[in-house]
Amino acid sequence: MPDLERLLQESAKVHGHLCAGQVLGVRMSMLGLNAIGISDPKGKDRKDFIVFVEIDRCATDAIQSVTGCTLGKRTLKFVDYGKMAATFVNLKTGVAVRVLAREDSRQKAKEYFPEIADRYEAQLKAYKIMPDAELFETSRVRVDIKPEDMPGRPLGRVRCEACGEYVQDRREIMRDGRILCRPCANGGYYKDEDAAAFFSPSVMQFLHNDFGIRSKLWIELEGEPVFGRGRMFLLAAIDRWGSINRAAREAGISYRKAWSYIKAMEDRLGIRLVERRSGGKGGGGAELTPGIRDFLSRYEAIEKDIRKAADERFNELFGQ
Ligand SMILES: [Zn+2]
Ligand SMILES: [Zn+2]
Repeated sequence: MPDLERLLQESAKVHGHLCAGQVLGVRMSMLGLNAIGISDPKGKDRKDFIVFVEIDRCATDAIQSVTGCTLGKRTLKFVDYGKMAATFVNLKTGVAVRVLAREDSRQKAKEYFPEIADRYEAQLKAYKIMPDAELFETSRVRVDIKPEDMPGRPLGRVRCEACGEYVQDRREIMRDGRILCRPCANGGYYKDEDAAAFFSPSVMQFLHNDFGIRSKLWIELEGEPVFGRGRMFLLAAIDRWGSINRAAREAGISYRKAWSYIKAMEDRLGIRLVERRSGGKGGGGAELTPGIRDFLSRYEAIEKDIRKAADERFNELFGQ
């Protein structure tokens, strides 16, 4: 393999400038390739390895320059972890080594050149001469590369049933029996302005603050509703006040009505919901049974989740 200075010159050309990141990236590559037994990355060994990079920063350009791996050739894989690390995988032997830049190398670099005031300049010089062990941590890892991630002809080509766009290399997602692209299934990095424009700007302006989505949730038993928001509020109020009377007032219904709701729920569900206490200071009160209290907290949780999911998806699709 060419020496450090020559590799640095090449990578600085690709990257646009020479920086500490170039030195790190070049040295990371030299170390990684050596560790997996690749000596001629751009020549005879070029089809025998793949590199995963975990950050899109300066060093990544250097790794690309030294290894000759690129996104387009599918030999460079970008996994967005925000970490200064790369994994070198030998496809023939299966040997894989992850190289991580040590955090303390930044500090050590200063100690190498205490007379240099500029931190980056000190790093640039020091990273060239510091031993591998001071710059990096390496570890043997296992990487299972799926057939659809390998170089070569695309595997599969299907149409998203939501947006109609085509998806290659098995990146589609099956959901509820439908084939979807990732943005349609999970939301994408872009918002479709044309979809948002379905409502004209003036309409959007008019709706502005009140533009939102409502969702309604209830639980049914044998096709009949047994529990929903209204019941939830009533029971939560009983729980809070320890009094059916007070809870009914808060819910804006009569005591009789509140009691009839409770009775109906008890009959349909076949469990006791409210325990009445007699006597005492307040002239008796009411308390939820542990069973319904548990039911209530689960119901509140699922209602909250569904509302949150609906809001998020709404904002994605209608761009609030
Ligand atoms: Zn740079
Ligand atoms: Zn789609």
